[in-house]
Amino acid sequence: MFAGTTARLLIRNGGEAPLELAVEPWADVHQILPEQTRVVVTHSPARDGSWSGTLRKDEPFQVDHQPDSVTVWANGNCFHLSDVEGNAIGAADWQCPAQAPAS
Ligand SMILES: [Zn+2]
Repeated sequence: MFAGTTARLLIRNGGEAPLELAVEPWADVHQILPEQTRVVVTHSPARDGSWSGTLRKDEPFQVDHQPDSVTVWANGNCFHLSDVEGNAIGAADWQCPAQAPAS
């Protein structure tokens, strides 16, 4: 059973043009169509909810916005991208502490 911490972030494209979503530090790029919502999940192995952080410690996410794109920095070991129904779209989960095989 996963004893670490999970953080979730919903990103909705409220505009009228496709929005580019980049998930860093994996440089994983996806398109969010108008009115679509995407869910970014990241996991930390730490039980106390600490995250390595970018600008400051203990922040699971940072979002940088540019005119046609958003960049999400996920500060856990992994990221999982899905739609709001939970269908997986992309992942960088090879270091996911929540999916580590039971020992
Ligand atoms: Zn994970």
